[in-house]
Amino acid sequence: MKSIIFIAPPAAGKGTQSKLVSDKYNLPHISTGDLLRNAVSDNSDISKQIKETMEKGNLVSDEIILALLEERLKQDDCNSGYILDGFPRNTNQAKEYELLLEKLHKDLGYVILLDLDKEIAKARIVGRLSCKNCGSVYNEFVEETKPKIKGICDKCNQELSKRSDDNEVTFEERYNTYLKETQPLIDYYENKGYLYRINSGISANYTFSEIERIIGSSK
Ligand code: AMP
Repeated sequence: MKSIIFIAPPAAGKGTQSKLVSDKYNLPHISTGDLLRNAVSDNSDISKQIKETMEKGNLVSDEIILALLEERLKQDDCNSGYILDGFPRNTNQAKEYELLLEKLHKDLGYVILLDLDKEIAKARIVGRLSCKNCGSVYNEFVEETKPKIKGICDKCNQELSKRSDDNEVTFEERYNTYLKETQPLIDYYENKGYLYRINSGISANYTFSEIERIIGSSK
């Protein structure tokens, strides 16, 4: 199985899709947002700085991200592929990642863009909930990904929580950052002929079936 890179604006469902693909194809799901959230759980100055950057919706430095990612990709569970969620976010990260892949003797794999209209993205983000225990992601405003019991994880019965950066103000900032930093990245992969595009405003099931079509048809 090859690796998959998901590129998506906030709330396009990259967390949900990563989890679905990870479970079905037994690939580790690597979210650079989660790597960062785990790395900043102490009270050091650097952690505070990173947290502040994340809460403003700005990007953390490429150097920090690449160091965290390299450490993660060296682990054995990444030997037969993995899912990258949230990385690369800009063309510099994409170029640095190519060097890292060469160093680690790994292939790029599939680059999949989950496209989503800005207004749909905004409406979705306000309702997003996740489970800190098992990583499941829900949305209280989207019928098919709503938890069965309000505020409780369907899978492990733990309480669900909202991320502090999932609010309208941070959304605008994150969306603008996405347009500014990530659009050139999309052009970069498109020009190389690596990019697959999916309209992820239809449903999570539709998006997942399109992903399976892509990874099935180009094996
Ligand atoms: P995410 O969970 O992917 O939405 O990421 C949450 C926040 O973590 C982002 O708004 C950024 O501040 C930071 N972040 C995650 N991935 C990256 C990355 N590849 N480069 C820089 N910052 C990142």
